[in-house]
Amino acid sequence: MEKIETHLLINGNIVDGEAEKTSLFSPENNEFIVDVPCATTAQVDLAVDAANAAFPAWKRKSFADRATVLYKFADRIDEKAQLLAKLESLNCGKPFQRMLEDEMPAISDHFRFFAGACRCMSGSAAGEYLEGFTSMIRRDPVGVVGQIAPWNYPLMMAAWKIAPALAAGNTVVFKPSECTPLTMLGLVEDIKELFPAGVLNIVTGKGSVIGKHIAGHEKIQMVSVTGSVNTGKQVLASATSNVKRTHLELGGKAPVIAFDDCDIDDLVENMTLWGYYNAGQDCTAACRLYVQDKIYPEVVEKLTAAVKSIDVNDIGPLISAEQREIVSSFVERAKKVPHLKIVAGGNKIDRGYFYEPTLIIDARQDDEVVQEEIFGPVVSVTRFNDADQAIEWANDCKYGLASSIWTRDIEKAHRVSSMLQFGVTWINTYFMYASEMPHGGFKMSGYGKDLSMYGLEDYTVVRHIMVKM
Ligand code: NAD
Repeated sequence: MEKIETHLLINGNIVDGEAEKTSLFSPENNEFIVDVPCATTAQVDLAVDAANAAFPAWKRKSFADRATVLYKFADRIDEKAQLLAKLESLNCGKPFQRMLEDEMPAISDHFRFFAGACRCMSGSAAGEYLEGFTSMIRRDPVGVVGQIAPWNYPLMMAAWKIAPALAAGNTVVFKPSECTPLTMLGLVEDIKELFPAGVLNIVTGKGSVIGKHIAGHEKIQMVSVTGSVNTGKQVLASATSNVKRTHLELGGKAPVIAFDDCDIDDLVENMTLWGYYNAGQDCTAACRLYVQDKIYPEVVEKLTAAVKSIDVNDIGPLISAEQREIVSSFVERAKKVPHLKIVAGGNKIDRGYFYEPTLIIDARQDDEVVQEEIFGPVVSVTRFNDADQAIEWANDCKYGLASSIWTRDIEKAHRVSSMLQFGVTWINTYFMYASEMPHGGFKMSGYGKDLSMYGLEDYTVVRHIMVKM
């Protein structure tokens, strides 16, 4: 592996973080990777000042000019795809090939999508809504945006945030998770070369210090965070200081509803993939399966065999010893519940931070494993009777991010999907994303959209301009 970049980018300058270092360890084998210096709050202030100074010129650029810079950045990400996939794989323990093939093409595509999308924003037609006065709508950037990312898809979440914010004409102070800064830091040289100074600043540090400082900063106009519900609440509280706009992508607990008439083999294949992908560290993981009575025994039998056959090298480890402890404690508590049966997995693996792919059957609606986000390779299976019961149980959850329905009856699929309160419902499929389609939640999963024109609009303010004729 080439030298690992650990510098920050502030006002177009590549600088050392001046606070304490965070030591990173490989989730795969627990070996030391590198020390990453954190920013001080004074360095964040410099980044915020730089972003404010860069804002007027970046905002004034034509959409085409901003798009050109974003296209160049997308090309650079493609050129560096091997290196970036290696860094992400090293930092998160993600299987390298999956990172390279599944995530890298989507990451550069998000930049290309928003480069084009910012040239296509729409709104009401200009006209005389009052006689003698002409009105028009503008969509202007918000200003300086603080962006705070999680550790489960570090570079992907960075792309979801940075691309629409910059395309809309904002300037950005971005903080990766303290656990997974390596890919964004691996791009600081490229950002310095391609973007005007101050347009995109990268700072590192703990959420409780640097994240909090960003969320409460008086000279930042909007904060966008992807993380846990608890973090979202803290960011909201900090943001009140100057009534910042907030954009929150938080937790999830996705229900998968399998009706008697579904294609069982297809369902089992998708559950095995998307319940355990990225070791289940996914806000949309297919972790809460509801199966209708008639097919329950067959689904359980086939899924148990499929989960037992998962190669842990394909799903990777958990991000940290701490996260593995959290997952393990959920399963240990489940072991003490008499009606729950753990039919696959249920244990730590004696290597890095790996945990066995785990399947828990006969779960009931009020069980902890059905209600709480575990964020690990653990799936629960619950038996249901009819569509109304499945809808009620699916919605009986504090989260509302992703959901899925499995049936050959398309009318039933539409009827049920119209009753669900989740940002996305996949029908007879799972985990398919398109840059053009929105992602975001109901309830405690947060609000605001990532991806799509809606994501771009979230980083703008609608304005009314009226002229007396
Ligand atoms: P986390 O909440 O621990 O951290 C997320 C980010 O917030 C990190 O950069 C962290 O440093 C920062 N942070 C923590 N406390 C802060 C504070 N008080 N003020 C400001 N910033 C603070 O989340 P995580 O453990 O990195 O990621 C896992 C969580 O993220 C899960 O709950 C998952 O569901 C959620 N997630 C949601 C989506 C989505 O699109 N809705 C996508 C990915 C992950």
